[in-house]
Amino acid sequence: LEIPETLAAGPGPGNTDARVLQAFANAGVADHMQGDVLRGMVECKHMLRNIWGTDNTYTFAVAGTGWSALDTMFSAVMPGDKVVAFANGTFSGIDALTLRIKAATPEEHAASPLDPQAASVTVVDVPHGQPVTGELVEAALEQHKPKWAFMAHWETGSGRVNDLRGFSDACERHGVMGLVDAVSSLGVDDFSIDDYPGIAGWASCPQKGLCCLPLTYAPVSFTDAFIESLRATGAYSYVHNPLFEARHWGIVDGQDVEKGTYHRTHSGYAVAAFHESLRLTLQEGLARRSTSYKTHERVLRDAVTAMGCEVTSDMPSLVVLNLPPELAGREMELVQNCRARGFGIWPTLSAPVQVRIGILNQLNRQAVSRIVRLFAEAMRELGGNVDYEEIEALLESRYGTSIAA
Ligand SMILES: *Cc1c(COP(=O)(O)O)cnc(C)c1O
Repeated sequence: LEIPETLAAGPGPGNTDARVLQAFANAGVADHMQGDVLRGMVECKHMLRNIWGTDNTYTFAVAGTGWSALDTMFSAVMPGDKVVAFANGTFSGIDALTLRIKAATPEEHAASPLDPQAASVTVVDVPHGQPVTGELVEAALEQHKPKWAFMAHWETGSGRVNDLRGFSDACERHGVMGLVDAVSSLGVDDFSIDDYPGIAGWASCPQKGLCCLPLTYAPVSFTDAFIESLRATGAYSYVHNPLFEARHWGIVDGQDVEKGTYHRTHSGYAVAAFHESLRLTLQEGLARRSTSYKTHERVLRDAVTAMGCEVTSDMPSLVVLNLPPELAGREMELVQNCRARGFGIWPTLSAPVQVRIGILNQLNRQAVSRIVRLFAEAMRELGGNVDYEEIEALLESRYGTSIAA
């Protein structure tokens, strides 16, 4: 199988860093109990705590993708548990489905196996493009008094940043354990877990902000309260039970130990790649990286706006837009034309149809300019009215002066 090099300019996966791929390819064959593999996992655990700004002992990573981390976090939710989930797009919608699956009783599963309607789960649907606000969370928690509340930090379906502070504060006020899908914000946004004490569980992914696509590790972090609850209830999983999983990362009975113990077979290649991606994040620093995302997102946003598009998102790694009125309804055609040429942008995955262009690990003048030019060409090809000179002038004015190339 040969897979071509494409320009990954969607919501994720991002552009895997060359250093990560090199670490992957340079690792030797070594089993999952070999000393350097275990040392690498312990070092990853410490780097994750540092990147994520947390003293949570149960901070480690789950083999797989974002959904693996989310499944691990949601494994603490038991049948009949009272949950309030806020859904404002494709991904938080799937999270809400996962929560209904976890909280459903056997009867509820049997009645609708792929879409159980768990009576104990309240899903608060927020329209596409709108954020989950602190007031909304406060009102729903006040009304329902659940054990768990859930929200996506950044809803990648619509490109919307939700109110983390409001969510955490409301959870704290009502004694609710907050669970957060931080799949698209970790490694992009500059925030610290320990500033949000209402949030008991966090789950992220390898391939977005951490630039580590070669199927590696999805970070998670849990407070002591989360772990106590899990200890008391158990979970219907061996592989995705945080207590079992954490052992291989050197966390046993709430304590750091020098060496991990067997949970499952880990790949030395994956550990080396993940380790390098965390080093990259620490070297650059989240403060610098998050500023850089905002700067480059602004350029992309202004360029597509100059082409007549309407940007409806507010996420620093992703622009979600409506095409100009004369091209409305042709979003899929435009996206498919781009993808056929290896320019990997995306449509939205649930209604309404919009175009999504991402800049994960594309934080320089050349990369963003290339994305802007390819998109301008695709618009023109469909008969859109794009002024190339105006776009070049915009790029020059933004990048020629203040922003380093
Ligand atoms: C990408 C994404 C997911 C799914 O992650 P996978 O790595 O595809 O499993 C879940 N939630 C959010 C918010 C995402 O952006």
